Amino acid sequence: MTVGSSQTMQAWVVSQPGLIETSPLRYVEKPVPAPAPGELLVQVLACAVCRTDLHVSEGDLPVHRQHVTPGHMVVGLVAGLGEGVTDHALGDRVGVAWLRYTDGTCAYCRRGNENLCPNSLYTGWDADGGYAEYTTVPAAFAYRLPTGVTDVELAPLLCAGIIGYRALQRASLPEHGRLGLYGFGDSAHLVAQVAVAQGATVHALTRGEASRRLALELGATSAGGAYDSPPEPLDSAILFAPVGDLVPVAMRALDRGGTLAVAGIHLSDIPQLNYENELFYEKQLRSVTSNTRHDGREFLALAVRYHVRATTHVYPMSQAQQALQDLKAGLFDGAAVLVNDWDAPQ
Ligand SMILES: [Zn+2]
Ligand SMILES: [Zn+2]
Repeated sequence: MTVGSSQTMQAWVVSQPGLIETSPLRYVEKPVPAPAPGELLVQVLACAVCRTDLHVSEGDLPVHRQHVTPGHMVVGLVAGLGEGVTDHALGDRVGVAWLRYTDGTCAYCRRGNENLCPNSLYTGWDADGGYAEYTTVPAAFAYRLPTGVTDVELAPLLCAGIIGYRALQRASLPEHGRLGLYGFGDSAHLVAQVAVAQGATVHALTRGEASRRLALELGATSAGGAYDSPPEPLDSAILFAPVGDLVPVAMRALDRGGTLAVAGIHLSDIPQLNYENELFYEKQLRSVTSNTRHDGREFLALAVRYHVRATTHVYPMSQAQQALQDLKAGLFDGAAVLVNDWDAPQ
């Protein structure tokens, strides 16, 4: 299977960032990209929809590439090899995620924190992503994917799952500890499965009856409102909701020595903290920034071992804009996944 450079494909592009209700994306015909040296050309089978795609489409994130194609949770097949690629073969199933380049030479990269690399580049923001029939990825940043899990099930693991897993590590959950999850969307419902499988007690703190029901189905011990007190003090908490008002709420819910990790790329302002009630007794407040490839490989291995399953809502690729609109409107729980219908007659 090879793809000629003269072939064209269907792809979504952000023509002019704006509110998703005004349909800022356009579905266009454009050439299939040619893989640069060291890159793979990937035939997109499935691409999960991330809230970050919404930020790119609406202009909350500054434009890094004009007319960018969003999408950074891609499951696909290697359809072409750039010069010098020797460790992948045509037809391999690979994952394309958010992090697509780090320099490997800065102080952060050298100490194992490539997530902090100031020269990092991101799929679907700095380079065209997976809302298309084909995309490219540097081979060194493509994930090898396990067998026995479907494309649609795997796709949401590639951002929601990996970022959630890094947040879990940043929350320093002790063995068999008590974990609070503030907000219960795509990331949280995957992290909850890992934590429960590892013996943690999980408390979901979220608005929305359906989210609470899902949390309990996945093994959470309790599910209450985001501003409610959990039934017991927490060793660790992760704030997935992009709501700064919840920081003091979660800090008060922590036991002495507990840690809160803030998982979002965006957070509204944090109100004033009360030192005695919300930070003293060695409570810790931490942020989470992107992830390393090591996080990704470790999470994918655990996801297979623990049978972590995403709750998914499938849309055809041609309905990507609708999927983003539905995400913003909160019309579904779990993750939306776009699929290319490669079996249909062209
Ligand atoms: Zn994402
Ligand atoms: Zn670096």
